[in-house]
Amino acid sequence: MRHIAIIGSGPAGYYTAEAALKQWGDDVRIDVFDRLPVPYGLIRTGVAPDHQTIKKVAMRYEKTALTDNVRFVGNISIGTDIEIAQLQSLYDAVVLATGAPRDRALGIEGEDLPGVHGSAEFVGWYNGHPQFAGLAPDLGAETAVVIGNGNVALDIARILAKTAREFAGSDIVAHALDGLNASRLRRIVVLGRRGPHQIAMTPKELGELGELERAVPIVEPGDLPPESEDEALDPGQRKSVALLRQFAQNRVRDKPLAIEFDFFASPVRIVGEDRVRSVTVERTRLDDGRPVGTGESYDIPCGLVVSAIGYRSVPIPGVPFDEKQGRIANDDGRVGDRLYCVGWARRGPTGTIGTNKPDGFAIVEKIAADMPDAAGKRGREGFDALAAERGLDIVTFRDWKRIEEAETGAARDGAPREKFTDIEAMIRARD
Ligand code: NAP
Repeated sequence: MRHIAIIGSGPAGYYTAEAALKQWGDDVRIDVFDRLPVPYGLIRTGVAPDHQTIKKVAMRYEKTALTDNVRFVGNISIGTDIEIAQLQSLYDAVVLATGAPRDRALGIEGEDLPGVHGSAEFVGWYNGHPQFAGLAPDLGAETAVVIGNGNVALDIARILAKTAREFAGSDIVAHALDGLNASRLRRIVVLGRRGPHQIAMTPKELGELGELERAVPIVEPGDLPPESEDEALDPGQRKSVALLRQFAQNRVRDKPLAIEFDFFASPVRIVGEDRVRSVTVERTRLDDGRPVGTGESYDIPCGLVVSAIGYRSVPIPGVPFDEKQGRIANDDGRVGDRLYCVGWARRGPTGTIGTNKPDGFAIVEKIAADMPDAAGKRGREGFDALAAERGLDIVTFRDWKRIEEAETGAARDGAPREKFTDIEAMIRARD
């Protein structure tokens, strides 16, 4: 019998579990750990609440989770409740699928001012992540600035712009719905330090901005390169740029809220005393694809800034960390003695949810090659003994199903669930 511990129950974790089942069938026991009492990581607290179709992939993970050989071990923090070295002594292999849940820093003056948030905390707020549920961002100003030209920046701009009616069928948490309902925003400025041809947004997500009830996306026509240059783009990027060209026909007055794309605009300072008052932006030009400041700068008065410039992994005691890249130091997934990493923890915050499937299968192939035979480890039996000794309160998958039932039962009309946003409430629902 081979015993595998997977740390993290998001997409990378469950695809790895699925691959291990495929590889070893009945000869493997897999424990999937999570620090929260609820599974699915990014699917629950990262994917936008109005993207329910994407969240359906959790049904596939549930199928894996319900297999006899797989067990969910929730409410256990690796590094706090149990050390990595202990897991290594109990399991044949330990796979870190801990994602990239921290914000990359902008590295500019003023980024710690009240009213300035990273996307991890802002997305965590509207998705009810226990760590960020209490954020209470101030939506009382007329202007918000969203920094970054990736899909997370789009998610944030869209969520800030939607009406309550447009959240029907979503699982946005009640505190965020109430906060957004009271929002007085009239202008959302999306800052891109490069141009329309360099965006990291995908067409489906960009297209959604064009269909909002009270908001209109605006592009400054002068920022668009000559149309003939779109030919050189790949088909997805060409579609996105075609949408930006459509947005360039829109006018601010068309709807009460404008989502303005400000390209070639790099934030250089966030200004304010007690809280953010404006963002100072420097115009850029491209030099061999890189943004270079032109020396021309201007201020955007605003009361909210959300920086969506990418994520970092969290270092785990006893695990080598690549500070520069912001992820676990690894050689194509290999970290150390019977220690591996997968998904965003391995490669950084790139790709779609589906990208984690080949990633999970590849790491299992490596484990199989490194360890053709099981090493006679104690696995879950050993972990359970240690957990009992330490009085750890494990939340099982059956417990999660009870929590889920309570969330489904509390859902407002048409919504799939009303999430618990604190750990104690989750545990109470289990009990
Ligand atoms: P991302 O795709 O890497 O985009 C980050 C953006 O931030 C880029 O436009 C980047 O510009 C910009 N940026 C980086 N540093 C900056 C700085 N110092 N100042 C100004 N701008 C800066 O990251 P993400 O949006 O966080 O998304 C993470 C991953 O999740 C991506 O793979 C994304 O596609 C995926 N995702 C997918 C969906 C979906 O499919 N619906 C939704 C959300 C997220 P440069 O290009 O100039 O570096």
